[in-house]
Amino acid sequence: MANIILLGPPGAGKGTQAKRLESERRMVQLSTGDMLREAKSSGSEMGHKVAAVMARGELVTDEIVIGLIRERLTEGAEGGFIFDGFPRTLAQADALADLMDEVGQRLDAVIEMQVDDAALVVRITGRFTCGNCGAVYHDETKPTLTPGVCDVCGSGQMQRRADDNADALRTRLMEYYKKTSPLIGYYYAKGCLTSVDGLAEMDVVAASIASALDSAN
Ligand code: ADP
Ligand code: ZN
Repeated sequence: MANIILLGPPGAGKGTQAKRLESERRMVQLSTGDMLREAKSSGSEMGHKVAAVMARGELVTDEIVIGLIRERLTEGAEGGFIFDGFPRTLAQADALADLMDEVGQRLDAVIEMQVDDAALVVRITGRFTCGNCGAVYHDETKPTLTPGVCDVCGSGQMQRRADDNADALRTRLMEYYKKTSPLIGYYYAKGCLTSVDGLAEMDVVAASIASALDSAN
């Protein structure tokens, strides 16, 4: 059992790897991005408040995301937690350290997924997902076999994220470099950082993460 953070710019593949760790190691993915999108589609007051901020690609307040994480941490996870898209600021990183103390858990590893900016832009601006089963596709690199129809479940409800456009992506990258990338130094100094090449094949990335996990235990 291990608790880990997946750290990296938008489009680095954090979500893909988190899903894999969930099925292979019974870990639980805590994606603040997913939680915020759920709040938005459930029509809650908080979801309403963050929708415009997210669509522009800016970060929502530390208070909101820390609250979301706090709620879920107390539920526990047999195989450990995968923090995906959290923490994104130094204040969030400090808050996470306190929360982990409170629930008697520790952070075992922080995995930085390195991907260059040009690749991120290509990955993100062509991305769409199945609204029914969550399968992820790409206009150029992974189109559906039949246009508009999910290969996995046959649904026709394809979706594009409101912030997967060129303008919002520029803002997301800027937010990442200004506010999140300092966490790389922060966790390096704490002695728990491992960096992996996020542009390698999905299986190779998964293997690097697995070995970082096993050596952390
Ligand atoms: P990405 O693909 O850009 O990594 P996510 O799905 O993790 O995106 O997050 C989407 C958006 O949700 C972010 O651009 C931001 O507006 C908001 N968000 C998610 N996690 C956080 C966080 N930890 N702190 C602040 N804002 C967040
Ligand atoms: Zn589907």
